[in-house]
Amino acid sequence: MESMRWRADPERRRKHAEEVIARLNRFFELTGAESSGCPVCGTEDWHISDEPDFEANLVLLTAPGGALTQPIAHMPVYVLVCSKCAFVRMHAKSYVEHTLAEARKR
Ligand SMILES: [Zn+2]
Repeated sequence: MESMRWRADPERRRKHAEEVIARLNRFFELTGAESSGCPVCGTEDWHISDEPDFEANLVLLTAPGGALTQPIAHMPVYVLVCSKCAFVRMHAKSYVEHTLAEARKR
């Protein structure tokens, strides 16, 4: 992964990851969701798999035979990877951001 050319410089990535973590923590706080340990190994250390200049997306296969739709049906997500067992979890970005925006209006 480190050799990928599109990766932003480490400082920008670190700041971006901190922003994402802060947004997710605020979202969990607002919704009352418990952000506890990994469901597989119990570890509470998650890596943010996100880039400042790119958006992670869950690609939704909707055509028969698994062909991608045109345009590709997708869902922007925040992706977290367990630092111990590599379990991957995702949170729908639109829902997180909508909840944060609604909270700012109050
Ligand atoms: Zn784990």
